[in-house]
Amino acid sequence: MNIVFLGPPGAGKGTHAQRLMKELNIPQISTGDMFRRAIREQTPTGMDAKRYMDKGELVPDEVVVAMVKERLAEPDCANGYILDGFPRTVAQAEALDTIAKIDVALNIDTPDEIIISRLSGRRVCAACGGTFHVSMLKGENCPACGGELFLRDDDKPATVKNRLDIYQEKTAPLIDYYEKKGILSTAKCTDGGVEENYALVKAALNAMA
Ligand code: AMP
Repeated sequence: MNIVFLGPPGAGKGTHAQRLMKELNIPQISTGDMFRRAIREQTPTGMDAKRYMDKGELVPDEVVVAMVKERLAEPDCANGYILDGFPRTVAQAEALDTIAKIDVALNIDTPDEIIISRLSGRRVCAACGGTFHVSMLKGENCPACGGELFLRDDDKPATVKNRLDIYQEKTAPLIDYYEKKGILSTAKCTDGGVEENYALVKAALNAMA
């Protein structure tokens, strides 16, 4: 099954996609993670993307589309995949339609106040890449591996606001786009924690299966 996860930054797309990946045994393809890896490895794509990411802006469509196209051609995508953070514009969705057949677009609908609290409290481990919320941390270091935790540049308050505005303007129209295709399913998420929200995501997915 080829699945697209839609939803504002901080809706929990990555967290739920990782769980679903293990359950369905298909890869999670996160364009944000791919760019962060490219930045760490200082590739030309990474250096180019960083200029946009640090400001909370979208990387140009042609760069993202080329990267995803290459990734979807890899053998582990043959039995399906979860796209997490792609498409983010109608142009990306149209380009995706020329290279893949999407079965379900799962909209993780999450109120703004939950998003803002999640993003500003999110910390990422520099060593293992794990993501944690400050409210769950006991010490200063990563609870999984002891690595150093940091606040992503794009999770800083001013940038979060910019990312949410861009989501509304550029990405939210995809809800309509997939609804018209008859493949949209929405999970109305709450501040009830990961388990509760994952159950809502699974129910929305099962409703389309
Ligand atoms: P994410 O981890 O999905 O929130 O992505 C982090 C940042 O990477 C975004 O704020 C964008 O700057 C960039 N990015 C990730 N995916 C895309 C995409 N599909 N289109 C454009 N920019 C993207």
